[in-house]
Amino acid sequence: MAKTAIITGGSRGIGEGMSLKLGELGYNVVINYRSESSKALSDNIAEKVKKEYGVDTLVVRADVSKYEDCEALVKAAVDKFGDKIDVLVNNAGITNNSNWIDIKKEDYERVINTNLMSFLHMTHLVLPYMVNHSSKDNQCCIVNTSSIGGMIGVVNQADYCAAKAGVIGLTRALAMEFAGRGVRVNAIAPGMIMTDMLRGVNQDELNALAATIPQGYIGDVPDISGALGYILTASYLTGQTISPNGGIVVQ
Ligand code: NDP
Repeated sequence: MAKTAIITGGSRGIGEGMSLKLGELGYNVVINYRSESSKALSDNIAEKVKKEYGVDTLVVRADVSKYEDCEALVKAAVDKFGDKIDVLVNNAGITNNSNWIDIKKEDYERVINTNLMSFLHMTHLVLPYMVNHSSKDNQCCIVNTSSIGGMIGVVNQADYCAAKAGVIGLTRALAMEFAGRGVRVNAIAPGMIMTDMLRGVNQDELNALAATIPQGYIGDVPDISGALGYILTASYLTGQTISPNGGIVVQ
């Protein structure tokens, strides 16, 4: 029977690579995006996934920082693919790049709501569609995109680091709570990966930071989608945070 995966923030960057990886692994893929301008991008990815991997897709616009949008997203997935959700990838994320004096309350609330609250909403809504079907031999998986910002401090990223550290805590706690019910929960904490998120920051500062990466270069999307592929097939792995980061954080 075909398996179903939902990915939040699947329209661009790391999410695009992960959407393709899910298709490659044989999942029907529910691709979520938020901005109207990303509809065409998401539709194109969905077409590519269908054509290259022969699975089905569904594109759903939803602002996952809002619980009611998450409800609509999960309902759309269940209506189309049935009440067994095998994989949830929480990937949607934004950043402010602002110092903690000038930042506005609305701005840091938006980062927390998108980068952390959406992960709480989606896991809360999707887990009931996992636990009733999963077992040791038929595992379901949640994969949360954190960041090296969840492991170390980064200047002008206090809200982002708080959210991403929260994602690691959520991952650990849910892994413990659901390990006995066939659901594995892991996180990926990317280092610097060349996407729109990085293209949006000061390029001189970016280059200075890139020069400190031990492997000597900024990573690419396949470095992260490859980690997703590993996690989905690593049946004894749960509660872990895997960090493809070029050696910039070593733990
Ligand atoms: P991009 O800016 O390229 O893509 C962000 C994605 O998140 C888009 O698909 C966007 O949708 C979606 N998104 C944002 N807000 C919402 C929302 N409220 N509801 C639904 N979708 C939303 O970023 P990246 O690909 O670089 O980042 C992906 C993840 O990886 C994020 O969680 C980020 O924090 C994390 N990460 C990235 C790193 C990097 O160096 N690039 C490093 C460490 C972590 P839309 O297209 O509709 O706007």
